[in-house]
Amino acid sequence: MAVDLTSLNGKTLNSNPTPAAGAQSLSMTEMAGTLILRDAGEDLGREGILRTPARFAKAMDHLTSGYTQTVEEVVGEGVFEAEGPGLVSVRNVEFYSLCEHHMLPFWGTASVAYYPKKKIVGLSKIPRIVDLFSRRFQVQERLTREVAHALVSVVDPRAVAVRVKACHLCMMMRGVEKQNSDTVTEFSVGLESLTEHETQRLWSSLENER
Ligand SMILES: [Zn+2]
Repeated sequence: MAVDLTSLNGKTLNSNPTPAAGAQSLSMTEMAGTLILRDAGEDLGREGILRTPARFAKAMDHLTSGYTQTVEEVVGEGVFEAEGPGLVSVRNVEFYSLCEHHMLPFWGTASVAYYPKKKIVGLSKIPRIVDLFSRRFQVQERLTREVAHALVSVVDPRAVAVRVKACHLCMMMRGVEKQNSDTVTEFSVGLESLTEHETQRLWSSLENER
């Protein structure tokens, strides 16, 4: 069915929302939410549904907030001189993301390990880097790579490895409906500079996870 995009449910589309206009106009995402409900056959006037497009838009704003930030912003002043060459690992950082193929959630944990050269990053910054890249439309493989490359850009380590384990709603709720499968992706940079023993320690530090 053709839809008049300039007027929906008595409200008008506002492609450049301002606080003053917000109450009576729909953002693009609110309009998308309205269209999804309408296309499914919902009664848009039903009480439980009335504010759903607005809630959907607010939730999507949060879930895609990674687009409005940079690695430099989330790391800020959190880079320090390394006091030694020892392995640093942060395991099981929870994340929630949206699969770019279905716009459905995937979620899990990311674990990061690196051998510093001259710099280290504050441990609390690693979850913020994971959030930065997971709060976007993603594929798990790219998320894994982007976290590793962010570590390279922030601390220039001798080597870094990232392991991401996730469940995908697009697999669980539809199609193959594999309820209990998870997907593991790994990415590393700089392994050629490590000894065999160091490489083994790097990966084994990521394996001991929940
Ligand atoms: Zn998917």
